[in-house]
Amino acid sequence: MNYLPSADRYEKLNWRRAGTTGLVLPEFAFGLWQKFGDRTPYQTQRDIVLAAVDAGIVHFDNANRYGPPHRSAEKNFGRILREDLGAWREELVLTTKAGNPIGPSPYHRGGSRKNLLQSLDHSLRDLGTDYVDVFYFHRPDPTVPLEETVGALATAVQSGKALYVGISNFYDRAEAHRAAVLLRETGVPLAVHQSRYSIFDRRLETDELLEQSAEDGVGLVTYSPLAQGLLTDKYLDGVPDGARALDSDFLSSDDITEQYRQRARALNELAAQRGQSLAQLALQWVLRRPEVTSALIGASSVEQLRHNLRAPGFAPLTEEELAIIDRHGVH
Ligand code: NDP
Repeated sequence: MNYLPSADRYEKLNWRRAGTTGLVLPEFAFGLWQKFGDRTPYQTQRDIVLAAVDAGIVHFDNANRYGPPHRSAEKNFGRILREDLGAWREELVLTTKAGNPIGPSPYHRGGSRKNLLQSLDHSLRDLGTDYVDVFYFHRPDPTVPLEETVGALATAVQSGKALYVGISNFYDRAEAHRAAVLLRETGVPLAVHQSRYSIFDRRLETDELLEQSAEDGVGLVTYSPLAQGLLTDKYLDGVPDGARALDSDFLSSDDITEQYRQRARALNELAAQRGQSLAQLALQWVLRRPEVTSALIGASSVEQLRHNLRAPGFAPLTEEELAIIDRHGVH
């Protein structure tokens, strides 16, 4: 097509290194989890993805499961790649994941070699690319030896179908470390760990995974930094039309409780005193940690995306402000 990315896109975002790997990434990555399936008009998806590229994002996060229905987000992104971004494939970091269930078959779930490598082939067909930059194991599977799972990840790299590998949702510090050790033994180091982290979800801190990742030389790609929209001002006075809480399997209007609103209002007030929005405050909070390589954000409009990417332009959070955030952020 006729799309040409903005010439100064590499000057727009700060870049960080993923652990001790050679891979550098912008501090924002964009995820295609819930609004890039078949329920969202293709044109909307394309507008958001191309606006992200223009804003300096190169790192797009997918999974076999994303949609709905499963696999549709990869197909839709594949179309954007084919029609608009193909000439820039080498300048993009595309990821996918397997391991979460996508169907009733035992070969469509879990950490077996059969599921992981078959799914990767399927994802490559849907994305229309010969390789992904990062192939992730989506979540721990205690029914499969971790040795088998990491062996499949190593095969993905050795066969040229992935350049790096990652794990996701390993909240047990010892298990995350074991995955890093086992992978190192295969000669394919663990590059990134993708896990949830926000003002409202502190497991990476309480379970010392920030420290463990730094020790293992693994980058952290932290997802849902806005707690799916709860750390924005959108739910302060109601549930607006089109909001995720109205049409998601992962967030519901039942989550918008009075207790939640009190916490969000207090954080919103602090953000307003700093001259920014709650979303921008929440993103700055996640990115204050050097162990975090990228904040993995979502957006359902170009406006949301552009607004959020302005977050790093505000004054750093002070100790006093961090204490206020702790007071309202922790249940
Ligand atoms: P966020 O916490 O950034 O939530 C994004 C959502 O918040 C948007 O879709 C939008 O929801 C709302 N929002 C964003 N900006 C604004 C704004 N300025 N004002 C008002 N509302 C706003 O991240 P996600 O939960 O979407 O997760 C991001 C990515 O992380 C996913 O796409 C996926 O790639 C990855 N992920 C990985 C998981 C894993 O298991 N590895 C699990 C979950 C996510 P609305 O639709 O209401 O407008």
